[in-house]
Amino acid sequence: MADKIILKRMSFYGYHGALPEENKIGQRFIVDVELDTDLYAAGVSDNLERTVDYAEVYNLVGKIVEGPACVLIEAVAERISERLLKTFPQAASCRIRVTKPDPPIAGHYESVGVEIERKRSMAYLGLGSNISDREDFLKKALIALSEINSVRLDRCSSIYETDPYGPVGQDKFLNMAVQIETLLPPQALLEEIQRIEKSLMRKREIHWGPRTIDLDILLFNQCRINTEKLSLPHPEIPRRAFVLKPLSEIAPHVIVPGMNRSVIELWQSLNAEEGVRLWKKNNGEGRFGLFEN
Ligand code: ADP
Ligand code: MG
Repeated sequence: MADKIILKRMSFYGYHGALPEENKIGQRFIVDVELDTDLYAAGVSDNLERTVDYAEVYNLVGKIVEGPACVLIEAVAERISERLLKTFPQAASCRIRVTKPDPPIAGHYESVGVEIERKRSMAYLGLGSNISDREDFLKKALIALSEINSVRLDRCSSIYETDPYGPVGQDKFLNMAVQIETLLPPQALLEEIQRIEKSLMRKREIHWGPRTIDLDILLFNQCRINTEKLSLPHPEIPRRAFVLKPLSEIAPHVIVPGMNRSVIELWQSLNAEEGVRLWKKNNGEGRFGLFEN
């Protein structure tokens, strides 16, 4: 989308900085904002209600820049982008530039600054548990996910009971998949889900062994990433019935990047119906509906 709202060279006085004099005396900060949002409806209707109000953007940015001091302008920019994307759901992404025109450092330069770009992403996560109260672990993980700042839980699949996978003999799993919207980049989302795993007492003792909770990022937009810590899409998707069955309930036609096949096609070609049984149906009434029947 090429449409955008642009606010250039907004000027505020703030106290951000790593040097004591910056926190004490303060300085001027210049902020530029670009919000990517479809302006067609506003253009044809000529109606302020149909667009992002510049005055509101200005006030939100001003409150952050003139508010509590950060050490880094990176943090100021991050706060601005988070606030704007949360306040204006019609904006798909934004670019924020924060500049100090007169920083108290020696040398010759015009200004110092940072620019960041942030966008909404859609991701699918897989959840699994096979120790003690498995449903309770799924539920606690969902609550913890929805409490992450910058994550919104949008859809949950039903819960399936699945036979354990891999070489380690262990109890049956409960598995499900969820769709989230997030402002986090993929690596930060991975850190958050690993924090949740830890908080739910997951111990990484045996690879593919029993676990109170396993949280995996299955898909993140159409991203393809291959680093030591993170592979996207999750490389096991096409082989795991306990992933494909719940995922095909909430994202049947989503293409798995790199494979160029949809989730439902992968599920059908796996031919593994018997290892995955419906355990509790999502009643469709809201995100925690599945726990109420
Ligand atoms: P599995 O989920 O395959 O049963 P683990 O949960 O023990 O196994 O994952 C081991 C490692 O996999 C994690 O430390 C993590 O860094 C890595 N990993 C790579 N890609 C992903 C992904 N898409 N989602 C979650 N973890 C991932
Ligand atoms: Mg995992």
